[in-house]
Amino acid sequence: MSDISFYASPKELYDILEFVLTETDIEVYETYSGHERELKKFKNAADVLQWYSINITEERNCKGFRIAFYSPSVMKNRIITKINLKKETGHIYRYCIEGWALIIFSFEGIKDGRLCGSDFFLSNSEKRAKQWEDTYGDKFGPASDVNWDAFLELSKKLNKVIKKSSVAKTGSCYIMEDAMHFSKTKGRLATMYPIVPLRQVKEKTPEEIRKASPPRKDAICTCGNNTFHLRLNRLESVGLAACTKCHTQFYLLDSGDHWDEIVEEEGLPRQVKCTKVHNAFGIIFVYDYRDPIEGEVPDVESVGIVTICATCGYRKHQMTIEIDYSPTDTLVNQPLVLTKKINV
Ligand SMILES: [Zn+2]
Ligand SMILES: [Zn+2]
Repeated sequence: MSDISFYASPKELYDILEFVLTETDIEVYETYSGHERELKKFKNAADVLQWYSINITEERNCKGFRIAFYSPSVMKNRIITKINLKKETGHIYRYCIEGWALIIFSFEGIKDGRLCGSDFFLSNSEKRAKQWEDTYGDKFGPASDVNWDAFLELSKKLNKVIKKSSVAKTGSCYIMEDAMHFSKTKGRLATMYPIVPLRQVKEKTPEEIRKASPPRKDAICTCGNNTFHLRLNRLESVGLAACTKCHTQFYLLDSGDHWDEIVEEEGLPRQVKCTKVHNAFGIIFVYDYRDPIEGEVPDVESVGIVTICATCGYRKHQMTIEIDYSPTDTLVNQPLVLTKKINV
């Protein structure tokens, strides 16, 4: 869910590792050790680059690698497993790192002047870990021992670093500034998709920006009513609201993109009730924005869904929906999206 693919130059690779090793509590390891030796834990960014023989000014060829990020505040134990190798391999053993919640960073290198992509890949989601607990629980311990909120927070932090320094996208991959420069001056990017600038620069007045990025918005039905019955699946971050007066149904934000699939897999999300079992609510969308770029409307980073019980006034933060794409203006202009009629 929070994986991210991007193009980073070797220089940016260094910057990313420097950030990871100085601004977070992440420890960096090889994913697999070489034969007959311990798994290497890296001391700093320079150590990583040196180990994989990467020169930050490289223009033609450099090898890629895969390393693992482990955060003690996410997971108490990282597990270093010894793998005994078959005789035919001519080797005896090697080590690998394992655990429920690791972030794998892969850098694919430069091949004949073509800079290949990188990504951060989360080894598991909470949901997936719980599904595999029977199989791996003995080795990894209970999935509930992992601080999944901290894991998501950490991946968000890493993604932010990438997005903040990106100037364009190709397919779903972000292109960081120096990688873009590389593609214009030294080589090119290994991509089959067109390169699209991230933000068409169109200066907006502060008033326009303020209007286009409100901190919150109340849900109002097309009939003017503002109370709704609500169904939410918090784990999947989707919701459906039905007007208590005219019964028109709306998806919350981008819920419609995944609704059918989620209902098919997990059934209809549960109806929301307040502590006194009332079921009609006012809905407030609370927006959080990314760091603004001067003269532009900032992108939405997440939207909180807050309900106020229409009967007893009980107020509750129901869930927060993370947004990892751009542009995001429809989420603000039209937080309620008309459904094709679903009978619920
Ligand atoms: Zn209505
Ligand atoms: Zn109530």
